Amino acid sequence: MTMKRIDDIYRPLNERVGDWKEVERLLSFAEMKEQTLRCMNCGEPFCHAYACPLGNLVPDQNRAVAQGDFKKAYALLSVNSDFPEFTSRICPALCEASCVHGLDEEAVMIRQSEKLIIETAFREGWVKPCPPAKENGKSAAIVGAGPAGLSAAVTLRRRGWAVTVYERRAGIGGLLRYGIPCFKLDKTLIDRRRKILEAEGIRFVLDAEIGRDVSADYLVRRFDAVVVAIGTPVARDLKIPGRELGGIHLALEFLEGQNRFLAGEISAPPIDAKGKKVLVIGGGDTGSDCVGTSIRQGAASITQIEIMPKPPKERSSSTPWPLWPYMLRTSSSHKEGCERRWALNSLRFLGEGRVEGVEVEQVGWELSGEGRPLKFLSIPDTKEIVKADLVFLAMGFLKSGGEDVLPHDPKNGIWRAGDCAGGASLVVKALASGKKVAAEIDGTIGA
Ligand SMILES: Cc1cc2nc3c(=O)[nH]c(=O)nc-3n(C[C@H](O)[C@H](O)[C@H](O)COP(=O)(O)OP(=O)(O)OC[C@H]3O[C@@H](n4cnc5c(N)ncnc54)[C@H](O)[C@@H]3O)c2cc1C
Repeated sequence: MTMKRIDDIYRPLNERVGDWKEVERLLSFAEMKEQTLRCMNCGEPFCHAYACPLGNLVPDQNRAVAQGDFKKAYALLSVNSDFPEFTSRICPALCEASCVHGLDEEAVMIRQSEKLIIETAFREGWVKPCPPAKENGKSAAIVGAGPAGLSAAVTLRRRGWAVTVYERRAGIGGLLRYGIPCFKLDKTLIDRRRKILEAEGIRFVLDAEIGRDVSADYLVRRFDAVVVAIGTPVARDLKIPGRELGGIHLALEFLEGQNRFLAGEISAPPIDAKGKKVLVIGGGDTGSDCVGTSIRQGAASITQIEIMPKPPKERSSSTPWPLWPYMLRTSSSHKEGCERRWALNSLRFLGEGRVEGVEVEQVGWELSGEGRPLKFLSIPDTKEIVKADLVFLAMGFLKSGGEDVLPHDPKNGIWRAGDCAGGASLVVKALASGKKVAAEIDGTIGA
């Protein structure tokens, strides 16, 4: 009751904007011990039983950390989580939003504790490959090596399946590697995990696009089960006049280019924000990643605009505890320097050959009784030009294609998992989806 949650989990701002290393620092054992002591060991732990898609045993893990028993904490974490080094860095921590402590004070720090547990486990050599004791004679092809595909692969392999993962890119990880910036997730962590997966017997076939390099028919004939986990590769575009001008890009073109450059796959980032007036259209996480990337590339200025109204500073009454709160979120990238504006609709891009600005107009939102935005109307005489010579469109993703080639069809041995099954979401949900689908496959045809 006397201890407060630690707010300061970031490296100093001036230092971090000058490099691409993770912005968050690893908390010390002493800090984490104190933080986990804040856990009340609730009779009904919403963090574990309601919020975490993986069902992590949060109160038990917290108790083990508070007792300084990291080996036990790691054993508990491993019960449900196969990739804690990813979630402990980039999960929005649905668990913390449902923490009972969060009702009257600040929630217990759960994500940071997970990070210290898994990093301690790797350092101490406790993270070992777990190949199956017995092969079951069945084989599965996984299409896509993002979190959903990797999660399905590990679950099936540990149950005795021979697993081959086909990935169209040169590296595994999906958006973990090519979308999410290095300053949120260090890519060497994906390589570290890959070695363990391979030692468990999972086979990766890279640079292999299903439908182009390998046919879908071949997979269906050759394997007992096929898991399609290809994500949602089609980004939502903004088809307003002037869209054809130079300097307007989908957010992922920018983020992927920078990630591939840092990985040494290409010699220079294909889109460079150095000295540019950057405008990010879309106020979500992908937009925020464009902000942090532009800052590190040396942009002259960065503005992020959003058509939705500014969310409330505190949890909205439309999302009472323990729901995931609708509220204003300020990321580490936002704090690094960017102007944020809300309730602005983009009407047309301006410029000759290259973009020079965007004409925007303010919109008013009709709100539900609980304050949820329902529909918008233009506010007359509020048009203005936002100047920009580089624009990133970060407005979400359309539901994946590929259904025509490999539809969800369990009767014919084809399952879909992750974002391509449920729409663009979160890494932790993709992991849970891959695991659930794998368990379903094993239960149906594994025996
Ligand atoms: C910029 C950005 C930042 C994000 N930040 C966060 C965050 O901080 N926290 C969070 O929880 N979530 C975040 N997300 C969401 C998260 O990354 C996704 O929800 C998650 O990666 C989905 O996993 P997936 O395995 O379903 O798909 P993906 O990660 O998209 O993986 C799909 C894989 O399939 C491969 N593939 C596609 N087609 C084929 C084919 N025909 N043949 C072979 N391989 C194929 C792709 O190359 C890719 O590797 C972010 C998303 C974006 C775009």
